[in-house]
Amino acid sequence: MLDSAYHDRLRDLPAVHRLLAHPLCLDAQARWSSAFVSAAAAELLARVRADLQDGKQVAPWTIDSLALEVQLLAADKFRPHLRKVVNATGIVLHTYLGRAPLARSALDEIQQIAAGYSNLELDLATGERGSRYSHVEQILCKLTGAESALVVNNNAAAVFLILRELANEQEVIVSRGQLVEIGGSFRVSEVMRESGAKLVEVGTTNKTHLRDYEQAITDQTSLVMRVHTSNFRIVGFTGQPSLSELVHTVHQHGIPVYEDLGSGSILDLRQHGIGDEPHVRASVEAGADIVSFSGDKMLGGGQAGIIVGKEAFITRLRQNQLTRALRIDKLTLAALEATLLLYQDEATALREIPALRMLTESVQSIKDRADSIVSRLAAVFGQQASLELMDSVAYVGGGSLPNDALPSCAIALRMNGISADKLEQRLREQLVPVLAIIRKEAVLFDIRTLFESDIEFFIESIISAVHSFR
Ligand SMILES: *Cc1c(COP(=O)(O)O)cnc(C)c1O
Repeated sequence: MLDSAYHDRLRDLPAVHRLLAHPLCLDAQARWSSAFVSAAAAELLARVRADLQDGKQVAPWTIDSLALEVQLLAADKFRPHLRKVVNATGIVLHTYLGRAPLARSALDEIQQIAAGYSNLELDLATGERGSRYSHVEQILCKLTGAESALVVNNNAAAVFLILRELANEQEVIVSRGQLVEIGGSFRVSEVMRESGAKLVEVGTTNKTHLRDYEQAITDQTSLVMRVHTSNFRIVGFTGQPSLSELVHTVHQHGIPVYEDLGSGSILDLRQHGIGDEPHVRASVEAGADIVSFSGDKMLGGGQAGIIVGKEAFITRLRQNQLTRALRIDKLTLAALEATLLLYQDEATALREIPALRMLTESVQSIKDRADSIVSRLAAVFGQQASLELMDSVAYVGGGSLPNDALPSCAIALRMNGISADKLEQRLREQLVPVLAIIRKEAVLFDIRTLFESDIEFFIESIISAVHSFR
């Protein structure tokens, strides 16, 4: 019903030019432009008018409150949709949350390279055109023991490029136990079809013998591919030949072996108590002709697909036109090189690369951090919410083995009369969203994945979420 009160309120709305003369709006115009702020003011007034027209509840306003809203609306237009969140899930390489966070030196390098010009494709020695791939080739060879290296946009692109160049319209032999789907969007069989390679499945889901591979070899065979099954594992009556056994047999037929490691690690992490993540150097030493892995999984750099292997094959890949379409961007390259340099000193890599630091942090050290957070939150909440420190299990993530579990420590938060689902959702709605897990009607924050520098955001977002239920 459009009654007279409605007309009174509508008349009470200030004109755009009056609103723009308010000090808050003048501030905004100094920061952005008068045209931009004027459009924001018009948008706000139109929204209030429409709400009144639709009979919606519109809170009483003053010129001050409207001017403040104009300022907030203008500021909001500059707030990126992609933004920082706090990861309290305990999954270190979380695909939804952007996988590996970068090391300080990688960030500095991105800043340097992105802000100005660089020798991206210039050979400084000759002044002639150079190759963007030259910056990381040597260090990759040194770290993995390979003859040659090439980097592309991501590992999915690496797999595609390798199959396209080395197996187009020819046969590629893969064990049935390795035809995996990773993260819902990467299926070995489908990438293979897109690349034009013909998949030849051998063995069974649980067992593939050397003789299965050997019997499948024909004059159409161009490649034998091994895929690290990453995010799942078959247990029990299982078997696969080792990589070196496979290489030995397959090479006798003059056929190369390619291994897609997925989350390949530069360091041998077993001595640090981390499952059996595939070690790139081990695959190179076992004789694989080509090995590919992701830059933003265990390596702890940015999104990239890293290919290492024998010179003859890498040269063919480099010359393929597709490489141009799949090429790595300079910011990623800057981050990747800086990250790789850290690996020259194992202790430095473990300390400086966030993913490796989190994966190797002791439970005691995580507990200490959790303890101090609990005391700070308890002091704020009193009876409003209950907090409990508990043992938990964190995961490597990033398509790594699900049984790569790490002992960890979590804070459980419960609020009387508020469900864990509701609380978890409210935490995601904060200015800096906090991603938690729900266990047994409590919201659980795993502290292994909480950066020291995120603690203030974390505490602020939790307080704001809890208080929002008042
Ligand atoms: C993750 C993964 C891929 C895809 O790598 P991206 O870098 O995400 O493109 C391919 N193969 C395996 C075995 C993987 O684990």
